Amino acid sequence: MRLTGKRRIAVAATGAVAAIAVTTQITPSAFGTEGTTAKTAAAAAVTAARASTDPSGPADSATSSTDGTVFHDGVMSLDAPPVHTRAAVAAVAATPQGEGWKAANGITKSLSSGYTIKFYDQKSVDWLGRYVKASAADLQRITSLPISVDTTPVGWDYVRPKGEIVVGVLKRPCVPPADNGQTGWKIVRDGSGTPNLSCGLISSSVPGTVTSGHAYIDSEFFTADGKPAPSWGETFMRNHISHELGHTMGLTHADRSATRGDCAVGKDSGEKPVMCTANHGYQDARAGTYVQQFDVQGLRYLAAGAGAAVPPQGKVTGLGGKCLDVQGGKTANGTQIQLYACNGSATQSWIVGKDGTFRALGKCLDNARNASTDGNKIELFDCNGAASQRWSVNAKGQIVHVASGKVLDVTGGSTANGTKIQLYTATTDKRRLWTVPK
Ligand SMILES: [Zn+2]
Repeated sequence: MRLTGKRRIAVAATGAVAAIAVTTQITPSAFGTEGTTAKTAAAAAVTAARASTDPSGPADSATSSTDGTVFHDGVMSLDAPPVHTRAAVAAVAATPQGEGWKAANGITKSLSSGYTIKFYDQKSVDWLGRYVKASAADLQRITSLPISVDTTPVGWDYVRPKGEIVVGVLKRPCVPPADNGQTGWKIVRDGSGTPNLSCGLISSSVPGTVTSGHAYIDSEFFTADGKPAPSWGETFMRNHISHELGHTMGLTHADRSATRGDCAVGKDSGEKPVMCTANHGYQDARAGTYVQQFDVQGLRYLAAGAGAAVPPQGKVTGLGGKCLDVQGGKTANGTQIQLYACNGSATQSWIVGKDGTFRALGKCLDNARNASTDGNKIELFDCNGAASQRWSVNAKGQIVHVASGKVLDVTGGSTANGTKIQLYTATTDKRRLWTVPK
């Protein structure tokens, strides 16, 4: 049964990509008046759409000529009729992509003002809320964009404005009817599809920009009281929802080819990303840590396109090619920093800040008590702006504690997992050289 479930999920993932490709191929102006720069073109497009598909419609609503999305005062509605004009879809820019990530067609940037994630109803809040909050925190940390979560239900008739992503849980929400193979909106009310299908869809009303989105998680992934089904559990569920939110943020599957699971490995983590199709991506049982690595490079690309100050993030490798790691993945102040085999987990994902900090798990790399003696402990600690947390990377590849001029050192030069990292006088011994994300 579980294998069957996975296969079905994979189908859902494919469907999501198809829908994304369509929604992003629509000329941005077709999505109405969300952006001031697109306003004139949008008005013209809406007028044209109205003329071709909805001649009798009221003056304040219109229907996209490309995907059937209905607009009220230029804002998308979920009640779009299944209008088809595939031939009208224009060619778009090549898909931006890199190792371990791929953006949807034509999408090059996030919205610089960030996003608010909302919920359709209280059930969606209750069932999805904690996962969405966790993913939102990851997204904000990765992109440096404001990503907030508002748990006041908006209702199923809500028309989603620019900058909002709305999520919901529905039974079989994402299978298009047979005559509606490409629209991304009407299908959410259909509910007639295959079990175990979830989807995340984006829209762009400003050229190349992710302006909003929605994600629907199939209720069949849950027990009747809203717990993840036993074959999933908390871990898979979090990655699953991050995967769909990744779609709403502009990412598509990071597969190399049409062969399912043929995923590019992320340069930042060395792992298959969460946007990889189902059986190799978000179904990784390390979810909850692994998720924090999800398609970081792609999200950073899109955020940088929006002008966000995105700091480098990824693994820091040293002696023996092993990683700078937070011992046990613990976030308690004073947790030892160690050398460990690289595993793509969040405990090895460091954000290298312009302020000289190295951050993992939301805390800072810290030289204990800011001492300068050789062998001083290197730990994780609350970020506090202190000199003990200011580092620089020099041309030799040493990570220098600025205040003392001493460097990060692998104790004893051992490559064993768990070897403690300490402060030590700088030399160019290999045990004191690191490769840091740029
Ligand atoms: Zn997908």
